[in-house]
Amino acid sequence: MALAGNPNTGKTSLFNRLTGASARVGNYAGVTVEREEGEWRLPGGPVQVVDIPGTYSLAARSSEEQVAVRAIFGLDGEPRPLVVVLVLDATQLVRNLYLAMQVVEAGIPAVFALNLMDVARAQQITPDLEVIRSRFGVPVVPVSARTGEGMRELAAAVDALLPDAAGSAIQAAQQAAAPSGWHYPAVVEAAIAELAPMVNAARPQEARALALWALLSVDAGDELMDVPPAVRARVLALRAAAQAAGTDMDDAIIRSRYAFLDAVPLVRTIPQAGKSLTDRIDAWVLHPLFGMVIFLGTMGVLFQSLFAWSDPAIGAIEAVFGWGGDLARGALPAGVLTDLLVEGLIGGVGSVVVFLPQILLLFFLLGILEDSGYMSRVAFLVDRLMKALGLHGRAFVPMLSGYACAVPAIMATRTLESRRDRLLTMMVVPLMSCSARLPVYTLVIAALFPSSMRGILMVGMYVFSTGMALLAAGVLGRTLLKGRRMPLLLELPPYRLPRLATVLQQMWLRARAFLTEAGTVITACTVVLWFLLSFPRDTVPGQDFDALRQQAWDQVDSVIPDERLAEIDALEQADRLQQSYAGRLGRAIEPVIAPLGFDWKIGVGLIGAFAAREVFVSTMGLVYGIGGDITEDSPSLREKLASERHPDGSPVYTPLTGVSLMVFFALSAQCMSTVAAVRRESRSWAWAGFLFVYMTVLAWSASLIVYQGGRVLGY
Ligand code: GDP
Ligand code: MG
Repeated sequence: MALAGNPNTGKTSLFNRLTGASARVGNYAGVTVEREEGEWRLPGGPVQVVDIPGTYSLAARSSEEQVAVRAIFGLDGEPRPLVVVLVLDATQLVRNLYLAMQVVEAGIPAVFALNLMDVARAQQITPDLEVIRSRFGVPVVPVSARTGEGMRELAAAVDALLPDAAGSAIQAAQQAAAPSGWHYPAVVEAAIAELAPMVNAARPQEARALALWALLSVDAGDELMDVPPAVRARVLALRAAAQAAGTDMDDAIIRSRYAFLDAVPLVRTIPQAGKSLTDRIDAWVLHPLFGMVIFLGTMGVLFQSLFAWSDPAIGAIEAVFGWGGDLARGALPAGVLTDLLVEGLIGGVGSVVVFLPQILLLFFLLGILEDSGYMSRVAFLVDRLMKALGLHGRAFVPMLSGYACAVPAIMATRTLESRRDRLLTMMVVPLMSCSARLPVYTLVIAALFPSSMRGILMVGMYVFSTGMALLAAGVLGRTLLKGRRMPLLLELPPYRLPRLATVLQQMWLRARAFLTEAGTVITACTVVLWFLLSFPRDTVPGQDFDALRQQAWDQVDSVIPDERLAEIDALEQADRLQQSYAGRLGRAIEPVIAPLGFDWKIGVGLIGAFAAREVFVSTMGLVYGIGGDITEDSPSLREKLASERHPDGSPVYTPLTGVSLMVFFALSAQCMSTVAAVRRESRSWAWAGFLFVYMTVLAWSASLIVYQGGRVLGY
């Protein structure tokens, strides 16, 4: 059994109620983007239920709508539903019946579940069940997914349509009863007659429906993958012929459908006095000026709280992991395995879990905004600005959350309808300046620039990255990801009070997905990096450090040995690092990064940072032989950077190198979790690979221009 219907009619709520599942529910269109399955125990035996993405019509162009079409018709290996329950919003019945009509037209056994009856009743909207039943020839059951009314009646209606235990199909009788009470103009009927034999369908009625689907869906710019070329060519020819004869095919089909729906009144409404609460709120929220102010205020609070409220929790998590590491180190014998456990695993897992407070908070706040219905309004407000850049209005929320972390931002692109819009958003979100870049900017700016310039530089980096993200959207949207930007056709749902249980449950489900998926990647990378930095261990030292130590002891009068010994330890560590695999890699890539002003030591940091950007700071600490806990404001690391010299005596880090380094960090795809998230959300290694390559090339070129340009200008 499939649950189909327009977006936001409560299909998933009903699905959860029937199957006891906890699939994601939200008060706006586009929440369900993948099909969900569960089991519903009916009196006559269990039935498999599929919840499919909402769609306004079977003439489907976006990828989610195609998922719906496939599920309803049982195409492409999808199981063919024995019965489709059409979940209809009882308060918007006529518009909802447009889709229902197409399902009935295809001869698929159907039940109409008029959902949101609790709301309809409160608004004094009374659907005329008898009239609907006789017009469409299907059972009609009033229900409410929220209160649970009508579930028994729904079960009975569905049960009656399913084959009984012996497997005999009662449905045949029902199919025969499906009315053919509507007609299309002669030109449409002729086209259907021509196309129906060409499509691959089980029954004549279905062939007719698929022919209609092709007529409405295929056009020169569609993204449909699985239309046979012969059918495609024929449809285009038929449409062109009709156009030449003065008939628009789409128009003819859609008009005759609505003519049928409008012929007989299907609901009785008592007009309500005054404006509804939703209309009164929207007068402010959608106001060109106040709407923007309210929106900016909301986002300001959201942002601020992401940074501010999660700080104590982040500190606590860091403390717990640090404590756990010390504990493990104290309890276990010193050795390679202990190092791996403490530095690789505990440190690696810690670096992921540290993101958790921000992510929980983001999902909690977004959940409240989503379940209330506010997000649809936001998409509407910012659509104009986004349109200019070829982005979809709904891409705004992912872009914004990209300032905190690209991983949840990429997951948030699921709300976009078309694959092209989703991909475009995914490709530019990682350019937004995420919080992991902050420690790097802080280190570089504090080490190389006078304090009077620091604030401006930091703001400059944020402006730069936002500008580059928008620029990239403009360029990619006009080249590689060209294509029709889906118009923002958005239903503004009524405001509903968010339900805390729903919000918390969704927050947890999303956080768990983040932890398991991104967590495995980051942990693996950290372990690999630790290995590269720590091995091989049996190298021949560049100098005899023990002799140096002895020397230090011999000269007790001139130098305090503790300081000198620490210095020698650092030298030894740096020497080992230079000979480690990572050090060798750093020197191997030096020719590539030298034109950007980076030496091999920065190269080692960059290699580490390709797992996760924050790793750069601690890697640089190791590289400069300081060891221990390095933070971005650790003065010794800053001083080391500032005083580091090339063999010829010139400083390694000039302000120009610093800018070049920050530009590189702003633009490069140094985050395996992001790449993994893109791969998962786009279901394509190719796009994940493209993201990585294009950002790396962009970063390299921009740094090259900055560094070489700066040198020409004499910096
Ligand atoms: P879907 O897009 O069709 O899957 O719809 P959802 O299940 O995500 O629900 C959309 C919104 O309608 C959510 O805010 C639900 O809480 C709400 N909702 C669903 N069914 C009912 C109902 O019967 N009564 C009321 N009052 N709200 C409902
Ligand atoms: Mg849904």
